[in-house]
Amino acid sequence: MRRQLLFTVSAVLAALALAPLAIASAQDTTRYTHADTLRGSNGPARAWWDVAFYDLRVRVNPADSSIRGSNGITYRVLQPAQEMQIDLQVPLEVDSIVQDRRRLASRRDGNAFFVTLAARQRAGDLKTVTVWYHGKPRAARRPPWDGGFIWGTDSLGNRWVATANEGLGASVWWPNKDHLADEPDSQRIAITVPDPMVDVSNGRLRGTTHNADSTTTFEWFVTEPINNYDVSVNAGSYAHYADTLAGEAGPLTMDFWPLAYHLDAARRQFRQATPMLRCFERWFGPYPWYADGYKLVEAPHLGMEHQSAVAYGNRFQNGYLGRDLSRTGLGLQWDFIIVHESAHEWWGNNISAQDHADMWVHESFANYAEGIYTECQLGRTAGAAYAIGTRVGIRNDRPIVPAFGLNAQGSGDMYPKGGNLLHTIRQVVDDDAKWRGILRGLNATFRHRTVTGRQVQEYISREAGIDLGRVFAQYLTTTMVPAFEFKVEGTTLSYRWANVVAGFDMPLRVNVPGLGTLVLRPTEAWQTMPVGSPRAAELTVDDNFYVTARNVGAPAPAGPGGGG
Ligand SMILES: [Zn+2]
Repeated sequence: MRRQLLFTVSAVLAALALAPLAIASAQDTTRYTHADTLRGSNGPARAWWDVAFYDLRVRVNPADSSIRGSNGITYRVLQPAQEMQIDLQVPLEVDSIVQDRRRLASRRDGNAFFVTLAARQRAGDLKTVTVWYHGKPRAARRPPWDGGFIWGTDSLGNRWVATANEGLGASVWWPNKDHLADEPDSQRIAITVPDPMVDVSNGRLRGTTHNADSTTTFEWFVTEPINNYDVSVNAGSYAHYADTLAGEAGPLTMDFWPLAYHLDAARRQFRQATPMLRCFERWFGPYPWYADGYKLVEAPHLGMEHQSAVAYGNRFQNGYLGRDLSRTGLGLQWDFIIVHESAHEWWGNNISAQDHADMWVHESFANYAEGIYTECQLGRTAGAAYAIGTRVGIRNDRPIVPAFGLNAQGSGDMYPKGGNLLHTIRQVVDDDAKWRGILRGLNATFRHRTVTGRQVQEYISREAGIDLGRVFAQYLTTTMVPAFEFKVEGTTLSYRWANVVAGFDMPLRVNVPGLGTLVLRPTEAWQTMPVGSPRAAELTVDDNFYVTARNVGAPAPAGPGGGG
């Protein structure tokens, strides 16, 4: 999802009015709490067990905005231990925690429960602990960014209920190990709602049970690993239609769930899902969830990358709520939510970051995918123009990567600046077939896995055959935009990198009058080359590189090149 800053700490930082550009390599100076550590770190009551299966059953009561249910957590014991951390956020309450038919003692520490297990936990054991709970979960304030449970109605007055909880965490409505590094291998999601509501959750519908109390239980099943924040409720007056894509890995089921009165609009707009899937399969490899299928589900919020059940609320129009984030006009040629959120099926859902500090692995690639989709539809030049256009959204306020282990979120620059980092690296690789191979290779190598950002960086460097470590460090951990400085004295061109991390050595494509297009290899030290004519001072930097350029020899710099 396109996120905005959620945390009050961000507001505090903004209020401090730090002169952000003066801090070359801004440190994450946020004050984190004990709760942040419990939530964001793989602590001692988490690290010893590995989630295998979540058996989630929740009864949703829109009449009083309450829920009641249970989650059976099946896990592998990695190391013997007796204390288990299970997360469930206030104001929800635990009724009981049970293992082997015994009620277990627990103590609550804010949004975390520490459960004392009675049975021996031997390495290699597969055990289940079931948490029964109820309450009125946090209502979303500004979903999907400031999320929780959405208790709404559609425009006909029918009840329409949904969840959106990325960042905030799945534990806002169900008990689980709320840490990104540990995904279950599969999950049941059995949601009970009042008749005649229909619930659409992730994976495939295994069955519906009509209950005596005028409710229906919809049992969905996800057969593949899923991010806990992607698990979702969407309950309303839905219509359904289906299609099949002849995809790279065979027939892929596509299921569409608009509100019933939006069926015609959906049949028009959701056609874009087919070219989107074709484009992304070509560039990123097979859709990662053939077993669970592809779905678009209309939601009472803008949208969210809920795995195999992408939430859609873009009002059946192109652009981002009708706007073009690139300001080139190209973003109005397609539906931002269909493209961006579906891109997360590869970047975020297939390859998932283990720590929120590495959310650029989700958002930078999803932003980059918008340009790739533009390229698929309108050609390479248009795709590049889109990527370059999104630079208007770059703030360079804080680094993209904040502190680890605290569920901390970096700058919103992870979208347009991260996308432009990838667009720039594509220029450095300078071989589209190889670049596409890298993008597909990432999805094959890390298929259905959680990763660190470093693993992604190292994979790209290795496959490109170029050490991109300092390039990633520059764009992800500092707010500095590399400055290509040059001057022409007589018939000699001098050039270097400034405003860069130590050792920054990114190659750069320039056009020098009289010499044509060439690739320079600037470092922080001045280098020279003969250029034959003073006209070389009119050189231009390839705008596909997200850098600035300045002629430091001229009295009035011409200001060529991109960046800014
Ligand atoms: Zn996103």
